[in-house]
Amino acid sequence: MRLLDRLTLSVVPFKASLRSLTIFKVAHTPRRIWNLIKILTSMNLSKILRRPVVWGIPPIVMVEPTNICNLKCPMCPSGNGDMARPRGRLDLENFKKLMNDIGPYVYQIQFWNQGEPFLNKQFLDMVAYAKRFGVMTQTSTNGHFIRSLSDAKAIVHSGLDQIIFSLDGTNPETYAKYRVGGDFNVVLQGLQYLSQAKRHLKSKRPLIELQFLIFKHNLNELKHIVEIARQNEVERISFKTAQIYSDEQGFEFLPENEQLNRYQFDGQHFSLKSDLPNWCKRLWLNTTINWDGSVSPCCFDKDADYAMDFIFNNSTPFKKVFKNEKYMAFRQQVLTNRKNIEMCRNCTEGMEEPYARIVEMCEQKSIEKFLAEASALEDQTVMS
Ligand code: SF4
Repeated sequence: MRLLDRLTLSVVPFKASLRSLTIFKVAHTPRRIWNLIKILTSMNLSKILRRPVVWGIPPIVMVEPTNICNLKCPMCPSGNGDMARPRGRLDLENFKKLMNDIGPYVYQIQFWNQGEPFLNKQFLDMVAYAKRFGVMTQTSTNGHFIRSLSDAKAIVHSGLDQIIFSLDGTNPETYAKYRVGGDFNVVLQGLQYLSQAKRHLKSKRPLIELQFLIFKHNLNELKHIVEIARQNEVERISFKTAQIYSDEQGFEFLPENEQLNRYQFDGQHFSLKSDLPNWCKRLWLNTTINWDGSVSPCCFDKDADYAMDFIFNNSTPFKKVFKNEKYMAFRQQVLTNRKNIEMCRNCTEGMEEPYARIVEMCEQKSIEKFLAEASALEDQTVMS
């Protein structure tokens, strides 16, 4: 594999398969490569010196099309109403200005954060604009807005590289237990429209991934979701543990099998299974730009409490914000005492997730390995 592709994969936050490289169209331009070298060097230097040094900008930028959502998922601040910041949608012209500034340097734009991206009518125009710069584009959706074959074809035409459907249930009942207000059949139908559109248009993109959060109530559906993926031409499934914000949520949703959640229970409270190292690579490799132009250090900053500045209103260029005093002080705090920052205490960064699996549907071995593991997990659940 080419060295640059290896480098690209090393900053992509999931175990991408080699096959993905034929699907994600990324242009390795000199400016992009030089930026990547600079940021990786300064990141490693910061780790050694224990003080932040920043050269370049992050190769991966999360952009929030909207923080409005149609569902009411109980552990999502957007859905459960806990989010205090104003609701709104990213404006296409603001997005274009942002891309003109950072597009030549970044490798990947992730179109999500809080909210459902397809609730911004300009979302696919943003994807198409980002593709002009040769970056990889991804989104994550609850899958309720692909209502026809022509909706699906519009996604393919936009050039989107990857789409992640949140589908953590294999029937309407278990699905709606967490995805409150959602309709399993609508999501499944949307998935089918998209596969059909890819076939009609003879397009490999977008790569379709299902994301399955493991809860107490869907633990016995791990094998079934693989079957659903197979029937619907899904290319990848990712299984993840859930994040909670309170002990009550832990009692209600977390599987009792400790292997399948990121928290430990001491008889009274849940706490993250991590010693919270004073380090976070995301402060160099990623950033999050909310719909209103506020720049958050990461997607854990649900309410933009740690926003570094705004890039749309006062037209401070992103490159300046990424190195401003507030951002540097935040990095220093993480390098010195991460435990002091509330949101960093409930974050998996730096810990090996107890359970995170990727199943590549084009690899029989990957499927078989996972199915064997899923059988063992289901047996353990029956016995306990
Ligand atoms: S919450 Fe803190 S440690 Fe986690 S990704 Fe964000 S900045 Fe890094």
